[in-house]
Amino acid sequence: MPSFSNPTEIARETFRLLATRRIAPTPEHYRTVYHEVAGTRVEETPAFPAEQLKSIQQALPRATPAQMRLARELEQTVKEGNLDRYSTTLSEFIKDQGAAESLPWGELINSLLREWDAVQTGITQGKKREALDHLFSSAGNNAETLHNRLQSLVRRWSQGMRSEEESMVDDDNSSEAPTAASDTKTAPPTTPASRASELLPQMRDLLAFALEKAVAAQIVEAPELASQAKDLATAARKANSIQEIEELLTELKRFAFRLELLADDRSELREGLLHLLQLLIENISELVVDDHWLNGQIAIVRDIVGQPLSLRTIDDAERRIKEVIYKQGQLKHSLSEAKDALKAMLAGFVDHLADFSDSTSEYHDKIEVCAKKISAANDINELADVVQEVMRETRIIQINAQRSRDELHTTRQRVHETEQRISELQEELDKASTLVRHDQLTGVLNRRGLEEAFEKEMARAERRKTPLCVALLDIDNFKKLNDSLGHDAGDAALIHLATLVRETMRPQDTVARFGGEEFVIILPDTSVEDAQKAVVRLQRELTKRFFLHNNEKQLITFSAGVTALRKDDNQASVTKRADEAMYQAKQTGKNRVVCA
Ligand code: GH3
Ligand code: MG
Ligand code: MG
Repeated sequence: MPSFSNPTEIARETFRLLATRRIAPTPEHYRTVYHEVAGTRVEETPAFPAEQLKSIQQALPRATPAQMRLARELEQTVKEGNLDRYSTTLSEFIKDQGAAESLPWGELINSLLREWDAVQTGITQGKKREALDHLFSSAGNNAETLHNRLQSLVRRWSQGMRSEEESMVDDDNSSEAPTAASDTKTAPPTTPASRASELLPQMRDLLAFALEKAVAAQIVEAPELASQAKDLATAARKANSIQEIEELLTELKRFAFRLELLADDRSELREGLLHLLQLLIENISELVVDDHWLNGQIAIVRDIVGQPLSLRTIDDAERRIKEVIYKQGQLKHSLSEAKDALKAMLAGFVDHLADFSDSTSEYHDKIEVCAKKISAANDINELADVVQEVMRETRIIQINAQRSRDELHTTRQRVHETEQRISELQEELDKASTLVRHDQLTGVLNRRGLEEAFEKEMARAERRKTPLCVALLDIDNFKKLNDSLGHDAGDAALIHLATLVRETMRPQDTVARFGGEEFVIILPDTSVEDAQKAVVRLQRELTKRFFLHNNEKQLITFSAGVTALRKDDNQASVTKRADEAMYQAKQTGKNRVVCA
């Protein structure tokens, strides 16, 4: 027979053998074949019935000193596991008591122990123990009831009647003869308690199987939880004692709670993704006008999908896409208006110039003709005609000039209006940029973005009962760097630091530019000691990855204050505390990290 090490395999093989050998799948047959497959021994030596004997001893009266002494002695023999002495002690006591008028306990106990050791077909030690357990738990403290029931049980054992029939026979009518007592070939039902204890190993195996194959395999993105599921599976297979099972239950509850949190995260994640998708689709019709805008958006989403997905990256993407869409809408609008206005103005001028030059050259031609007529005129009548013509032509040119002046006026007014509209749009755009959550220079969150991130992280920390830390960084002697290398170099230094912070901190940490050369980092699920370590690591990183200006290495340092979120804190109070700690770092020599 091939050897099986896995309980699930052994169980499967057991069922297969039961089927091929056409053996009824009773718990006992199952156990026998199971041991055969597993290569383990069926327990044969009768176990000392300590629990049951203790129950008898506890049920005995303790009214007299002699009875109490008996109880002590019996307790001792149970502890020693000495069946003979238990029996002798009890018989002698009863004899001493002149027990003629009381219940014949001695005789009963003797027969009980005899039947306990005797081998009866179909009645295993386990069944006997369960029958006794059942009897003691249901008989109460009445010695007479206990005696009667025990007596009938012992009698049934001696007649070879199985425990399952016992439960069907009324104890008080125990003299009735059993009907199917010797028919052990058919599979009789078991008591609920024994059935439960037989099902327990199967249930444990199934639980372990579910944890390993169903749960752990489903949560690959949470490797820590997955490995916990596997550990729990191992523990479930091993749990035998009550204490082990209780411990397993506690761990399972804890695990279930963490699973619930993971499910929360997953649904938040899914919602975030859906929202993102909707946003994209809604705006596609707007975006197709300008292909490169669309490409930009798709590049952002592609970047995000390329990263391991987290709530933070989705949030980030959503905010960025919103900003791009908003800005693009504004700019496109104002640009097309400005373009239209410009076109109209140019067209107006061209038309107007053409008109003007046309009419003036025509006028000149006409006046020239008139001048010729004037010089050639011989009498006043002829001259009067020419003067009238000159006057008519002049009037026409005057009307043209007036029309041109009007047109110029209108155009100037339209230009003015367009200018005003453009400046209004500019103002709106400025206002809109306050809605933007990212710092334009460094790309990390700005104060507005920080505010939102803060709210989210504080709520999450509270919900999960996890610590949250805040660090405030201020570049040392930044004014000097600006003064010596120039403002652009200062800007580049800010970008360098922001990039380094983003690359060094964990993905779940939030980085924001708090002010000129100050940055705030939010560290979720982090103790203050770990937060300090993380910021010190950042300082070390900054001494390794230099800021280069004109290919020259420039050492930038910063001072930082770190603090943990406390009860009743809000964003202002926690930032203030971090700022005070940072100030202390400045006071005590800069390039240091101080915890509040
Ligand atoms: P300390 O070590 O005490 O912090 O000294 P410091 O010089 O860093 O601090 P101070 O507050 O005196 O100077 C901060 C400087 O940061 C002044 C300001 O010109 C500069 N700054 C603020 N925002 C920007 C920016 O966006 N770009 C550049 N290049 N410089 C900036
Ligand atoms: Mg400062
Ligand atoms: Mg500074």
